[in-house]
Amino acid sequence: MNRLFRGQNPQRCLKCGSHVTPEFRRGYGDEDDRAHRCPECDTVNRIAKGSAAGLDVKIVDPLEQPGRFGGSFEELPKNVQALCREVATDGGEER
Ligand SMILES: [Zn+2]
Repeated sequence: MNRLFRGQNPQRCLKCGSHVTPEFRRGYGDEDDRAHRCPECDTVNRIAKGSAAGLDVKIVDPLEQPGRFGGSFEELPKNVQALCREVATDGGEER
């Protein structure tokens, strides 16, 4: 496994490492303005429900079902594709 983003850079999504704007972190992040998820690795619906603040959202995680991103898997950023594979391989398939 290669971890490109060691430690926690608060300017980046804690999940996928994509850059997130201060506005996004203030608006959707946790109390420390850290984004646990971002628009690159999660859907708008889940973020609106608090996924970026680290809350457990009862909507299917697009990393488990990449089809939820609404585009083809190949169009996803590479860092997000890698996360999808990680989830699919260590979480077990539930269908
Ligand atoms: Zn992200």
